[in-house]
Amino acid sequence: MPLTSPAPGPPSSARVAAAVRHAVGAGLLGESRPVAGFIDTDGVRDSVRALQDAFAGAPGVLHTFAAKAASLVPVLRLLADCGMGCEVASPGELRLALDAGFSPSAIVLDSPAKTRDEIRQALALGVALNADSLDEVRRIASLRSSSSASVIGMRVNPQVGSGAIGAMSTATATSKFGVALLDPGARERVVQAFAEHSWLTQLHAHVGSQGCSLELIAAGVAEMYQLAEEINKTLGTRQVTGIDIGGGLPVNFDDDSVRPTFAAHAAALRAAVPGLFDGRYRLITEFGRSLLAKNGFIGALVEYTKDAGGRRIALTHAGAQIATRTVFMPDAWPLRVGAFDAEGRPKEGPPLVQDIAGPCCFAGDVVAHARELPELREGDFVVLYDTGAYYFSTPWSYNSLPRPAVYGFSTVGDGGDDGSDGDTVRFAPVRDAQSLDSIAEESGAGHADSLLGLGPRRDR
Ligand SMILES: *Cc1c(COP(=O)(O)O)cnc(C)c1O
Repeated sequence: MPLTSPAPGPPSSARVAAAVRHAVGAGLLGESRPVAGFIDTDGVRDSVRALQDAFAGAPGVLHTFAAKAASLVPVLRLLADCGMGCEVASPGELRLALDAGFSPSAIVLDSPAKTRDEIRQALALGVALNADSLDEVRRIASLRSSSSASVIGMRVNPQVGSGAIGAMSTATATSKFGVALLDPGARERVVQAFAEHSWLTQLHAHVGSQGCSLELIAAGVAEMYQLAEEINKTLGTRQVTGIDIGGGLPVNFDDDSVRPTFAAHAAALRAAVPGLFDGRYRLITEFGRSLLAKNGFIGALVEYTKDAGGRRIALTHAGAQIATRTVFMPDAWPLRVGAFDAEGRPKEGPPLVQDIAGPCCFAGDVVAHARELPELREGDFVVLYDTGAYYFSTPWSYNSLPRPAVYGFSTVGDGGDDGSDGDTVRFAPVRDAQSLDSIAEESGAGHADSLLGLGPRRDR
């Protein structure tokens, strides 16, 4: 099974280059619009197809997209159009999924802190829920009516260990997610809950994300599969009919290649858990970053450059407000940076060591430290590659910086792949840049006087 795939897959740097040049030409990036996110819709469709092909052997699989990885309604609608369902973890994400047009039966609600109201709403809509704890199973039992169409599962933590990034590893011994299966008595209590509630028909595990190996993820899924078999054997009936294997396939941020592929992931699962694909269980997946990361990029204007202590610094408009994880955990989340000239063409020239800094007012706001790139100058652009998931879709409002605009793009026509002049790139709006009125409004402008009315008045 090949571990890399040139095609189908997300865009090459050349396709990104074509998009950058056309975005600058169309004014989507420039002096008055200094930063924006871009999503390659052809690449998204290719990635979904690769996922569907990898699991084609499994009858009745529901692939859901983890909404938090790209919480943008037009992107969710594109994914619905590709035949996907949606995994949500908050009332806001549920609302986006419904607005995007997913049918409730294709939505799965996972969250470690579901309120009674959220549970009631999911049950009324017929959205699937995975209980995160035995207490939550009790809560669902007290709120559920027999007329609810919701599939109800239980999230377990197979406690198979950590990947390379602790904050992205959900199957550690002390993870906050799911029922910790190896804890004394836990397995028995899980089996007992299934015995008490015939409507519990699904198991769920999400072992982790970036930094987790295919083997670690497969080991976690294998534990869950064995538990499903044990429950059904103990109860003498096939009560567990669904297995939700979560998402978490890591993404390669080092170059254009897609590795590991969905095909490699499915092969590792087949090797570790042969029975998973034989049709006795309905499979659910919840991939996020592996579908979107390589299908998006950030473009940002270089506003100034300066030298400080012998280091060249490019001051751009892409910083912690749009690349939050990378700024705060640069070793765990390094990004490739591309240098483009004022016309949006890839820059040539000898490499110069430069810091790529953002607009935020704190010293650590640097997205790439001591990076070798052609010399950047005022009016140039930088590209942060592979940022289609968890970056521009999840901005941070530090310094009251606006949420940047997001555009979808499609490269069509001859030469669309090579970034040459003969190509065409079409854009469509995904999210408008946030206005100053909106920033003021979400900063309490509607309550501007409210604090003056509290407490004693100042004597004049
Ligand atoms: C975040 C999350 C996912 C998606 O993870 P990716 O690493 O983006 O694939 C899937 N399931 C659950 C429960 C999650 O919390």
